[in-house]
Amino acid sequence: NEAILQVKDIKKHFDLGRGQVLKAVDGISFDIYNGETFGLVGESGCGKSTAGRTIMGLYNSTDGEVLYNGKNVHELQGKEEFELKRNMQMIFQDPYASLNPRSTVAEIIAEPLEVHGIYKDQKEKMKRIYELLEEVGLTRDHANRYPHEFSGGQRQRIGIARALALDPEIIIADEPISALDVSVQAQVVNLLEKLQKEKGLTYLFIAHDLSMVQHISDRIGVMYLGNMVELTDAEELYKNPLHPYTKALLSAVPIPDPDIEDEREQIVIEGELPSPINPPSGCVFRTRCPMAMEACAETVPKWQQVTKNHYVACHLYNEEIEDKTPINDTKG
Ligand code: SF4
Ligand code: MG
Repeated sequence: NEAILQVKDIKKHFDLGRGQVLKAVDGISFDIYNGETFGLVGESGCGKSTAGRTIMGLYNSTDGEVLYNGKNVHELQGKEEFELKRNMQMIFQDPYASLNPRSTVAEIIAEPLEVHGIYKDQKEKMKRIYELLEEVGLTRDHANRYPHEFSGGQRQRIGIARALALDPEIIIADEPISALDVSVQAQVVNLLEKLQKEKGLTYLFIAHDLSMVQHISDRIGVMYLGNMVELTDAEELYKNPLHPYTKALLSAVPIPDPDIEDEREQIVIEGELPSPINPPSGCVFRTRCPMAMEACAETVPKWQQVTKNHYVACHLYNEEIEDKTPINDTKG
C-alpha cells in the first residue's frame, strides 16, 4: 500500500497568552494509503478536527510535518500549493453553516470551479454542475434552488458535490454525518462509499463515535486529548481493542444483532475530559483510566507496535514495566 499522506509527529499548539498553551494536537503520526478510508475517532475536544485542518494545510503545524505524495504541505507555494488545494477537499459537519444561504446550489458548486478558473465556457460549466448533482443523487432541477429549501441530508449532498467539483484525490470529512438523522446517516455513508469506488477517492473520516466509522473505515485511529492512543485495521479494532479508552468507547457501541447476547463488560469513562491547556503528566488518559498504575503518572507511554498492523500507546503492553497493579485496587 502506498501512502498518499504521511503525518509525522504533528503538533498544533495555540498560544493563549499569559504563558498558557493549548495543546490541541500533541504529536500524532500515521499514514493514509491511497484509496482507503482512514477513520479518526475521539470525543469532542480531543483534537481530531484540528488534526484534520492541520493535515489539509489550513493550519500551520507547530511541529512535525505532513507529506502529500512526499511533499511537505506546509511548504508548498504557488502552483504546487494551488494543486494541493485542488486535490484535497473538505466536507463539514453542518452543511447548512458551510453553504451560503444567498447562493443557489449552482452558484455554490460553481464557486471552486471559478476560483480555480476551470471553465471559461458557461455552458460547459453548467454541464459539469448538472453532472455533479446527479453524482450525489440530486437532479438538475435543484440547481436554481437555495440551501434552505433542502433537508439536512440533501444539504450534505450539496456539500459533497461542491467538494467533488475539482475532482480531488483526498476528502477530509469532518463529522459529515453527526448532525444528520440516523436514517439519513446510512444514505450519506453509502453515497460516500459509492463515490470512493467510482473515483478512487481517499478519505480521512473524522467522527466522535466509533459506530459512525465502523462500516466505512479500512483503518481507524483513536485520539484522546491531542494524542493518538491506538491505530489498527477496522476489523481488528472491533474484535481486539487494546487501549482502555478504545475498550470504553466500544462498550458504548451497541451490538447490532439482537440475537447475540452482549457479554461485553460495560466500561464507563468517569470524570471530565481534562483541559488540553494543562494535560495530566505521563499518560493523558490516566485520570479516567480504570487500569491506571503507578507508572502511568510518571512516564508517557510509548507508541508501540503490538502486532503487524496494530499500534497502541499504553503501559499495559510495555514489557519493561513490571508492576501493573491498578492503583484503584488499593481502594477496595
Ligand atoms: Fe491506562 Fe496507564 Fe494505559 Fe494510560 S498507560 S491507558 S493510564 S493503563
Ligand atoms: Mg470537531
